[in-house]
Amino acid sequence: MIVTRFAPSPTGYLHLGHAFAAITAHEAARGGIFRLRIEDLDRARAREEFVQGIFDDLRWLGLDWCEPVIRQSDRFDNYRAALSQLEAGELVYPCFCTRAEISAEIARAAEAPQGPDGPLYPGTCRRLSRAERRALLNSGAPHALRLDCGKAVERLPNLWFEEASDDSNTDYDKVPVEPLLSGDIVLARKDMPASYHLAVVIDDADQGITLVTRGRDLLPATHVQRVLQSLLDLPRPRYAHHHVIMDESGCKLSKRTAAKSLRALRAEGVQPREIRARLSVP
Ligand code: GLU
Repeated sequence: MIVTRFAPSPTGYLHLGHAFAAITAHEAARGGIFRLRIEDLDRARAREEFVQGIFDDLRWLGLDWCEPVIRQSDRFDNYRAALSQLEAGELVYPCFCTRAEISAEIARAAEAPQGPDGPLYPGTCRRLSRAERRALLNSGAPHALRLDCGKAVERLPNLWFEEASDDSNTDYDKVPVEPLLSGDIVLARKDMPASYHLAVVIDDADQGITLVTRGRDLLPATHVQRVLQSLLDLPRPRYAHHHVIMDESGCKLSKRTAAKSLRALRAEGVQPREIRARLSVP
């Protein structure tokens, strides 16, 4: 049976891009199970009214999900347990760098390796000696925890993921994973016990997701997440990265660019079937 999910962050009201993602995931389940997950790790930006908005918008679109809905803010213990597992395997190290220090270090380097979101973390704290690390930890210096992706590669076989090669998700291509693509990613911070990547792999596994549908803009995330799945011995879902809905100027619709919300469209009297027609979905 196919199990898919829609995993919005409640940091604003949903817009057409979310409607497309949710309808795509619902359709992809093909009578299997469609789950919902509230990705509210960012406690400073997540708001209860937006969570309620997600439920209202999905109901309005006629999408019914299978309970229970999980919320990432309820699952910090699960993430901590996974982090401990990685720490026990010495795959994680504390990073004391501030953003400014990282930028300065990158500017100093002759050639900073680039990742999908800009220059990669230069590995400054990975090179600290045990004594230096201990002294900084003992001093109470704030730190994040990073994955040592070089060490992870040494432990892992060649990985790949299955990506749908047609719109009906019947055929799949094997895509080789690039484990170093995003470098030593942050897995947790002082104010956030899990990063997006860590939380997603634990949640997808716990929700029994067999097919992850999401925008192509998250393709680089899949490389990182396959590495974490493998290190944590989690099942490997299939993937179908869909196109991203753009506005008239060719930019991705987003809360930041103040894309019109589904709620606002509803208030204008737009009907769900018009939304579907606008998105060219059945
Ligand atoms: N919460 C993410 C977003 O709203 C989606 C994460 C995912 O599908 O893996 O963009």
